[in-house]
Amino acid sequence: MTERVTWVDYQWKDETMSGDKMAQVVILNDKDLYEELSANDDFDQRIWFYFQDEAEFKRAFNKDNDEHDFYLVAQYDEDDKPICPSCDGFIPSNENPGAYPGAISRKDNSTEICSACGTAEALADFFGNK
Ligand SMILES: [Zn+2]
Repeated sequence: MTERVTWVDYQWKDETMSGDKMAQVVILNDKDLYEELSANDDFDQRIWFYFQDEAEFKRAFNKDNDEHDFYLVAQYDEDDKPICPSCDGFIPSNENPGAYPGAISRKDNSTEICSACGTAEALADFFGNK
């Protein structure tokens, strides 16, 4: 089996703050690689969650499972969500993938891009046409 990359919403168990957080996770399906990455000083699971295998990934959705300090709320199938061709983020934003339409690029008036890139293009236009 090869590794699988997916997007999830997660919450920290020790945080009372509401609102989902989004993260990209990697399901390695490789125990040796997982142990190597876990032992690495640079391993930062606040950015990347590595899962040893699909089973561990599934267990992380269970709030009562005490393997992790977080639990997963939702998983996004990347194919389901529109991706911004400018920055590879989700449309309209990484916080709300697919929730509503993004901006239309000023470059060709048809390509859908994310809100942030839409704003950036509008500003570039504004300052470029003075
Ligand atoms: Zn973008």
